Amino acid sequence: MGAMDLMSVMGHEQVVYCHDKETQLKAIIAIHDTTLGPALGGCRFWNYRDETEALIDVLRLSRGMTYKASVAGLKLGGGKAVIIGNPSRLRSEKFFRSFGSFINSLNGRYITAEDVNVTVEDMNHIAKETKYVSGLSSPGGSGDPSPITALGVFYGIKASVEFKTHNASLRGLNIAVQGCGAVGRNLCKLLHDEGARLIVADINKTSADLMAKEFGAKVVAVDEIHRVQADVYSPCALGGVLNEKTIPEINSPIVAGAANNQLLDEYNDGLKLKDRGILYAPDYVINAGGLINVAHELSGYSDELSRSDTKRIYQTTLKVFEHAAKENITTNQASDEVALKRIHEVKGLYSANNHHLNTYNNQSWIKAGR
Ligand code: NAD
Repeated sequence: MGAMDLMSVMGHEQVVYCHDKETQLKAIIAIHDTTLGPALGGCRFWNYRDETEALIDVLRLSRGMTYKASVAGLKLGGGKAVIIGNPSRLRSEKFFRSFGSFINSLNGRYITAEDVNVTVEDMNHIAKETKYVSGLSSPGGSGDPSPITALGVFYGIKASVEFKTHNASLRGLNIAVQGCGAVGRNLCKLLHDEGARLIVADINKTSADLMAKEFGAKVVAVDEIHRVQADVYSPCALGGVLNEKTIPEINSPIVAGAANNQLLDEYNDGLKLKDRGILYAPDYVINAGGLINVAHELSGYSDELSRSDTKRIYQTTLKVFEHAAKENITTNQASDEVALKRIHEVKGLYSANNHHLNTYNNQSWIKAGR
């Protein structure tokens, strides 16, 4: 299937291929939907196997941003960018300024921010070429979004525990955190401060060992973490970790974490979790803190306001669970419906009799890249 067919299946407005011979920049910017506002979404720097893998990743990630912004109640659309190549070899000021020029040429239809392998410093370089950038360093900027993302995930976990047990306290609960990077380690701190017991894994042993040292976490192997006996399994590394192999092995009644695109097959894997009675907190609902944070930057950043808006993820997550329970649908379908309902209302297309929107459109073959 070609790029245009994929755009049509997934509902994208625009996909832009960027190439700069001098800096060897190769990037794809995907604008999914701008009904609610300009498309905002991070830029991911990854050594993709090939262009198709990069395209599918950026299409999926940008569509996820549309849903994330909508559920979070923001006046933003969904977009994302991927840069193809080896970050340690290609990264330079000139490289990111070149990327900034491409963003500028879109006149504000796409606003960028950090994602995997892209730093605040890179954003500062991009800002020399365009104003359509967020996640800049302070003063003025919102800085690293990871602590706020972790705060939102923390409240998403609390809402999940509340929904499952009618008690939101995490004291004494065992929480398995997969990935102790920027979000994972901030989450570990919040969970530890709340009295939870931590089990962690990371491909970088030093990162996992740090959690053992700082918060008394038990470290397990990376292929063990999803199957440990725990109250919550929190994927905070990369996507695709909920799939036909891992789901039967999960030993936690709740899955709630930061990683984007956790379900390898959105439709079938969502159903498998539901059939097993595992409560899945949809990734984009509970990891929206980073987006809420950068959205605040666009209107004059306030850490306090950003945190209080992020804490609302607790109520949003409960709303999604309640909708899923009422309609007897998966939680990921429920969140998609909540997201699309708002977009369709803005478009003036929503009909109360037509709220089971077809959110999957035969897309189950589009696997999560990461
Ligand atoms: P990061 O790169 O800082 O951390 C990821 C961590 O996962 C690293 O420590 C890495 O070593 C580890 N890891 C990689 N593969 C692993 C594996 N197979 N098993 C165990 N550990 C593994 O990234 P981050 O900013 O912490 O983001 C983590 C996830 O959350 C990503 O999917 C990202 O897209 C998503 N997310 C992040 C933010 C944010 O604000 N940073 C916002 C929304 C979503």
